[in-house]
Amino acid sequence: MTVGEETNFDLIVVGAGLVGATCALSLASGGNGELNIALIEAGPETAQPNLANFDPRVVALTPHSQALFQRLGVWQDMVSQRVSPYQDMFVWDAEGTGHISFNAQQVQQACLGHIVENSVALAAIMNTVEQHPAITIIRPARVKQLMLPSETQTQVLVILESGETVKGSLLVAADGANSKLRSLANLPTREWAYGQKAIVTSVQTTESHQRTAYQRFLSSGPLAFLPLQDDRDQGTSSSIVWSADEALADRMMALSDEEFCETLGEAFEHRLGEVTHVDKRFCIPLIQRHAIDYFTPGMALVGDAAHTLHPLAGQGVNLGLLDSEVLTNEILRAHQRSIPFGETQILRRYQRQRKAGNLGMMGMMEGFKRLFASDELGVRYLRNAGMKRLDHWPLLKNTIIRQAMGL
Ligand SMILES: Cc1cc2nc3c(=O)[nH]c(=O)nc-3n(C[C@H](O)[C@H](O)[C@H](O)COP(=O)(O)OP(=O)(O)OC[C@H]3O[C@@H](n4cnc5c(N)ncnc54)[C@H](O)[C@@H]3O)c2cc1C
Repeated sequence: MTVGEETNFDLIVVGAGLVGATCALSLASGGNGELNIALIEAGPETAQPNLANFDPRVVALTPHSQALFQRLGVWQDMVSQRVSPYQDMFVWDAEGTGHISFNAQQVQQACLGHIVENSVALAAIMNTVEQHPAITIIRPARVKQLMLPSETQTQVLVILESGETVKGSLLVAADGANSKLRSLANLPTREWAYGQKAIVTSVQTTESHQRTAYQRFLSSGPLAFLPLQDDRDQGTSSSIVWSADEALADRMMALSDEEFCETLGEAFEHRLGEVTHVDKRFCIPLIQRHAIDYFTPGMALVGDAAHTLHPLAGQGVNLGLLDSEVLTNEILRAHQRSIPFGETQILRRYQRQRKAGNLGMMGMMEGFKRLFASDELGVRYLRNAGMKRLDHWPLLKNTIIRQAMGL
């Protein structure tokens, strides 16, 4: 759409990725549907998923995220396209005999979560967003400049590359890991590279995954096989996320498809037989990043704009959706009480509720990564013994699994 110079909204969300689009929909659907929202996105139309192939980017959605999508009325649309439930998870150490297995029945659930292709999830959310009368989608439009509230002006002004201006009471920055809004607002981050890259793609195997998600911890990085549901439901399609030290990842990217399948099968101890086919591979550098503050008056960060972490526990989107949920609740509560939602007290409450949890998850991922990267005999012994112990400790296992599922 074309926006006029004085286009005015209650809220402006920048970034129609999984987190930003969900946030816009939650804000528009909450309360009495009184808030009008601008959703600004740099990319052109949302592509409809091509179900003849698998999207190389998938997310492992927790039951908590699934429940959010159910409340927003978009889950059924995802299910009608393609989602892959998994009931079991098996994690093991390449350097020893320690392993842990988790099962949905242990926590009285039908499944531990769903593997959903990014394109499927995003298309389902955007199908509903596009029809919502309270949301104005402005795309393709890239944010160029920003004017946050000051003594002379109470509103936020977002200036697009086209020169047009969008005004609002609060700006939600959901513009991803390299957030331009975060830099424009001078919100610094703590960040460090893991020294690893993740290879993502989908593969075919000779044996069925039996709806189990697998993770093998190699000293060079974790390798995950995530079960995908194919047309014939044979269970032989999986999405892989193979995190490895940079030089090794580069070498694996340079292999032919046949060589890659063979190397991957060996790294996975042929748990699902032979790897017979690999789709196009993508390689993503892994960086841990955390904004020191999640807000400045008039603007809040959510999702990857606030934090990125190692994909080894598949929690990135789930954490971003939790950010969106908490921020939405705070905004709606403030609106009910006629408190301006760009106020520091509102945004500070959001930060307080989300920052510690995100930091805790990031710390845990870093700990896991270091623990399994160590070749020291003592550390290897301890982690294998620890895994075995934990596997036979149902109470603690249940607590861990319920937390990971967001229950
Ligand atoms: C290899 C890998 C595997 C992963 N696996 C999982 C998993 O299993 N489970 C999980 O939960 N997470 C996983 N993640 C993390 C997950 O993919 C991210 O956390 C998630 O995609 C972030 O969503 P987002 O909406 O915050 O950002 P993005 O998806 O990056 O969306 C940002 C949007 O903002 C737009 N934008 C950017 N700049 C501008 C601008 N200036 N103006 C307007 N628009 C702009 C972009 O076009 C984009 O649409 C994984 C990540 C990696 C790297």
